[in-house]
Amino acid sequence: MYFHLIGNFNTSAPADQADADISSFINEANETLLAKGAPAGKGARILNYQIEDRKITVEIESDRYVRAHDAILRLRKPLATLLGKKYRIGIRGIEIESFVARIPSENPVKAAKIPYVSNIEFDGKEISVWMEIDESQIRNRIPDRILTLIEDKIAAQEYGGKEEHWNLLWESAQKPILCDYDPTPEMVKRNWIKHGASRGQWIHGPESTAIFRAFESIVKTEVLDFLGYREMIFPKLVTWDVWKRSGHAKGVYPEIYYVSPPKTRDPEFWEEVSDYYKVTHEIPFDLIGEKIDKPIGGLCYAQCPPFWPFLQGRTIPDDAFPVRVFDRSGTSHRYESGGIHGIERVDEFHRIEIVWMGTPEQVVEESVLLQERYKYIFEEILELTWRKAWVTPWFMAQEGLTGTTGDERVGTIDYESLIPYRNDWLEFQNVSVNGDKYPLGFNVKSQSGHDLWSGCSGVGLERWASAFLAQKGLDYENWPESFRDIIGELPQGFVFM
Ligand code: ATP
Ligand code: ZN
Ligand code: MG
Repeated sequence: MYFHLIGNFNTSAPADQADADISSFINEANETLLAKGAPAGKGARILNYQIEDRKITVEIESDRYVRAHDAILRLRKPLATLLGKKYRIGIRGIEIESFVARIPSENPVKAAKIPYVSNIEFDGKEISVWMEIDESQIRNRIPDRILTLIEDKIAAQEYGGKEEHWNLLWESAQKPILCDYDPTPEMVKRNWIKHGASRGQWIHGPESTAIFRAFESIVKTEVLDFLGYREMIFPKLVTWDVWKRSGHAKGVYPEIYYVSPPKTRDPEFWEEVSDYYKVTHEIPFDLIGEKIDKPIGGLCYAQCPPFWPFLQGRTIPDDAFPVRVFDRSGTSHRYESGGIHGIERVDEFHRIEIVWMGTPEQVVEESVLLQERYKYIFEEILELTWRKAWVTPWFMAQEGLTGTTGDERVGTIDYESLIPYRNDWLEFQNVSVNGDKYPLGFNVKSQSGHDLWSGCSGVGLERWASAFLAQKGLDYENWPESFRDIIGELPQGFVFM
């Protein structure tokens, strides 16, 4: 990596008289100050300087060790001391005239609009990034974040558009397949479900609801009570602050349902909206747009982030680990766009979210315990054809690259079930070891100060239903006895004239 910077120290008076001192200061800085902390022969170098009016202009080049923008900050204080003591000249500030960083790359990078970046070019070997910054952006580490962002984009492109790495961990034996159709249209035909008014949303009738509740009770008995989980209620409106801390603020935007509050609840403020509707029977969207605030966040996306403010800033006694909690208090919402399909991939879904926390060893061990319990359910109760795969979601691989966790125990196991009607596999739940991401992001500590890790597992009820019904069909008589025992009789549903 290469940096080139031209910057000015703005002085309170012309500094011509100090020329000789500045010259020797710069020669020395090149040997000492700008090489400090870098391997021998590396670091930053001042190529030349110029004194003109109330400006001392320096041209600096560097490698990645003492980056040119950090180098100019390093110079400020000792230079101010030199000028102040002998010449009574002060430094008013630093101005950056030009700043470019070059990153070696085999390919150009797609980066449309990055703040503080005025131009990006690729010459076949390097990506050059011109930035327009001043001293405060350097102090706030903006240039470094821009470079990390661009390096991450390059890495993402090299990842080959693949969403995640996928490694098979385990595959079940083939179980009886009693169905060759897509369960959703058949559920609709039998009035078990009907499309809701919103996209990717279903109204579940009594039969479908009974199936979801049976799944829930299986998870409750065989996993949650068995392992000692305590139920909590997590919020379902998630604010930016939470997503900043959970990391979702880095990329969740295309898939969230945004939430905006009214600017005021004063009925007079809203009267023209209701009057408009009463007269036209049409919703005045633009007018409403003027009367609501910018989104404060969105509807629940991943279920566990809004739990963490409960622990935020707290220290947890050592004997409380592993902490085990779960939530099943409401819906999750994702804008799946054209991807919506049946009850499998919907914009509004139901999920049990299981969260645990402890030492790294405890968190990994808990994941193993959960996997054993899930295996028992899918083998002995639901008799599914299923498999487990170790997947590194793209964002985790990426964070690994930039050194956030990088531990090979951190990652996700996807559970997939065979979907016979389209001879494909469907992810129906996961078990994730999230490393220190959440405790760190939400500033949670252990009494003795040991490392804190956490994990989470999302049991998607729509996905469980899709998996089960696609393999066993909708006919109660064909379902495994172990499951019929739990669900009991299927409730009487709706018939329409
Ligand atoms: P997919 O790759 O299928 O989109 P995902 O990787 O986005 O899944 P996660 O973010 O890991 O899913 O969410 C955890 C669980 O939440 C999934 O295993 C699934 O059970 C459920 N889930 C996620 N998105 C949906 C959806 N659109 N409809 C129904 N269930 C979903
Ligand atoms: Zn989670
Ligand atoms: Mg998804």
